[in-house]
Amino acid sequence: MSDTVHAGRCNCGAVRVEVAGPFIGAGYCHCGVCRRRTGTAAAPSALAPADSVHIIAEDGALGAWTSASGSHKVFCARCGSAIASMRPAGHPRPAVAVRMGLLDGDPGVVPSFRQFTAFAAPWEAIPDDGLPRFPEAAPPSAWEPVDR
Ligand SMILES: [Zn+2]
Ligand SMILES: [Zn+2]
Repeated sequence: MSDTVHAGRCNCGAVRVEVAGPFIGAGYCHCGVCRRRTGTAAAPSALAPADSVHIIAEDGALGAWTSASGSHKVFCARCGSAIASMRPAGHPRPAVAVRMGLLDGDPGVVPSFRQFTAFAAPWEAIPDDGLPRFPEAAPPSAWEPVDR
């Protein structure tokens, strides 16, 4: 379990992510925080147990911001790439949501739901892809892997 299974990096290469195990699952988020941090209508993230995710950053390259929900959002302070979101300290299931766009290969999971659809951008219709939609946060069960 110590070998890297998934790897990714920011645009300038100052921040790398290594995941030493399978992802739990993945989903799209339409919330305002995700829209602003990405500049897009919805952002896909893949969830992994916190102890399997390693973020390696050059000195001073890792920026961080804590949202109103208490999640720690990290990004590359040099090139602006979104990296990951950590659940608040003390969460019963410590996990890291890795931004899927920075992964090099096949993460082995595909986004399987859409959350915070009540906050979706008014300028793009939510894709009619059959995925379950949750007006606010998806329940933990939504993150479980699905066959594809
Ligand atoms: Zn960078
Ligand atoms: Zn979000």
